[in-house]
Parts: sequence; C-alpha cells; structure tokens
Amino acid sequence: MSERDPVRTGGCRCGATRFEARGAPRFVGNCHCEDCRRATGAPFSTYAGYKSENVRWSGAPRRIYESSSGVFRGFCGNCGAPLSYQGQKWSGETHLFIGTFDDPRALTPTGEAFAEERLPWARIDGPKAS
Ligand SMILES: [Zn+2]
Ligand SMILES: [Zn+2]
Repeated sequence: MSERDPVRTGGCRCGATRFEARGAPRFVGNCHCEDCRRATGAPFSTYAGYKSENVRWSGAPRRIYESSSGVFRGFCGNCGAPLSYQGQKWSGETHLFIGTFDDPRALTPTGEAFAEERLPWARIDGPKAS
C-alpha cells in the first residue's frame, strides 16, 4: 500500500455508520445540481468517487433513498447525515461526501458538475477548482 493509495476512513455525524475507502478516488468534484442541493440542504456537494468494491461499510447499515429513478442516496438512519450517492449513470461507483471523511483536507476537488446550476454567490477558491 503506497502513500498515494491510502485507506481513508469516514462516517456519519453520530458514528453509527462508518466506511473505509481504499486507494485513490476516481475523481473529486463539486456538484451544483438542484437534486444534490435538496438532498443535503447545502449549496453544493463535494464528492470523492470510488469504485464500489473499494468502499467497505461497517456499523449500522446505511439507509437508502431512491431520490430519482436509478439514483440511490445513502444516509445514516440514526443521525440523518448524507453519506453516499450511487447512480446507474455511474454504475459500479460509490460517491462519498467529502465532509464525511475523517480527513477531508486530504482531498481537493478538481472539477465542477452542473456548473450552470451553481448559486451565483457560491465561489470556490480551492487551489485546483476551476
Ligand atoms: Zn449517524
Ligand atoms: Zn448533483
């Protein structure tokens, strides 16, 4: 296991549901779509996308909500924290909310999705965000 391919840990607000994500994420990006906005209550969502086989869950099983056809949003059934996004469009991937990682500073978003839906005041000044 190299320095570049660590096991990153994370979990929900209350600690009931935990995960381990192995290796480098396939992407780290911000999503500005209204669907994510309503699902989280946040102005935009930042995800680290992993192959689902590289994400191991432990503790209380996630609750899953099908927010639209083929889109499955995972959250903690106890504290309600959003944890994951899985969509048929990205089959085989699990997108984890960056704020649920124990060390979110280790991951930097490099892309924007649905930028046309971005709230006008939601500026992103990250070193690599475009
Ligand atoms: Zn929880
Ligand atoms: Zn979205």
